[in-house]
Amino acid sequence: MEQEKTAADKESLISRRHRVKQIKVTIIVLIVVFLILPTILCIIMFFKVQSLQKQIDMLMIERYGKTYNGLFEKNHESIAHAAVVQYNTSKSAKDILNENNKEQLDDTNKEKETDDINKKAMTSETKTLESKVSDKNTQEIKKQNTNMEEPNDISKESAGKSGNTIENNQANGKKSEKDNLLEKKYIFDNSKTVYLTFDDGPSKYTADILDLLDTYNVKATFFVIGKTDKYSIEMYKRIIEGGHSLGIHSYSHDYDKIYNSLEDFEKDFTKLSDLLYDITGYIPYLYRFPGGSGNSVGKVDIQELIQFLDKESVIYFDWNVVNGDATGVEYSPEELYTNAMDGIKIHNTSIVLMHDTDTKENTVKSLEPILKTLTEQGINVLPITDEVTPIKQVK
Ligand code: ZN
Repeated sequence: MEQEKTAADKESLISRRHRVKQIKVTIIVLIVVFLILPTILCIIMFFKVQSLQKQIDMLMIERYGKTYNGLFEKNHESIAHAAVVQYNTSKSAKDILNENNKEQLDDTNKEKETDDINKKAMTSETKTLESKVSDKNTQEIKKQNTNMEEPNDISKESAGKSGNTIENNQANGKKSEKDNLLEKKYIFDNSKTVYLTFDDGPSKYTADILDLLDTYNVKATFFVIGKTDKYSIEMYKRIIEGGHSLGIHSYSHDYDKIYNSLEDFEKDFTKLSDLLYDITGYIPYLYRFPGGSGNSVGKVDIQELIQFLDKESVIYFDWNVVNGDATGVEYSPEELYTNAMDGIKIHNTSIVLMHDTDTKENTVKSLEPILKTLTEQGINVLPITDEVTPIKQVK
């Protein structure tokens, strides 16, 4: 009996132990499922989000010259300008539907007067752009597109000859209300100075840009990247021989490489500086930061890079006018023209940011009317030199 009881107790003890073990395993499984796994997932997601944020910042810098946060900061004329351009583009659809041309004409005139009084960049830019958009008409845009799709033919003509879209329309007796407005809108006093700058070249369009500049006897500034093919070498030479300014825009234009450390920045800078010196015999002293000096994607403090440039006696230039050719919006040549002109209109001294890449055909198409309008009105269009007061975005 006694033996049987002991055996039963033993069995119950074993089964209880077994149950305790089961409960322990269950608790461990629950802890793993509800605590450890979510924690690990959170950590993984945190790093994932960080890397995505970085990618977004890089894309934003590529398109707007500023990170997402920086895009909405005030006092950032060029970026604000780009943002306003986008806002108004979406607004134009409504305006086109309204077809309220007479009112718009009055508005534009009023706004022109207001612009003269109001020198605040943002306000003025917004108004000018709004007036631009308000007088937009789809058919007219199409018509002008057709006219402007002949930059090569036009560029072959002499500077004195009429080759401009607006003038062509006049000559053909097709002068529209919008053309009137455009002409009226861009009458500047000739005390203005404009510096046209082209980033990211050489490209297949560099030769066309140089031809157009020659036609109008205008000198510009090219912030180039590093290329070693025969054509690009020829373009570096042509820029210098043509009396234009040749500046450095980094060898690689790769944010990860350039802004990784001061050492990497120096390496990239020196590589292009040496290349340009070997090709042209000229030591470049102008620099434009990829993404502008106001970018904040780099691991390295931009001030360190600026100190390095100072030490090398290199001056960096940002911009205060954009034509919008790097905003990710596919602007027509007319829109690029009006974007640039609206910016030039509100500044006494404009440094205009444009891009010279294989995809910026519309920028080349918009250049002819820009050059024509500026030169016809006797505005100083000059290359950047060490005597020019730099425009700097960095705080
Ligand atoms: Zn660039």
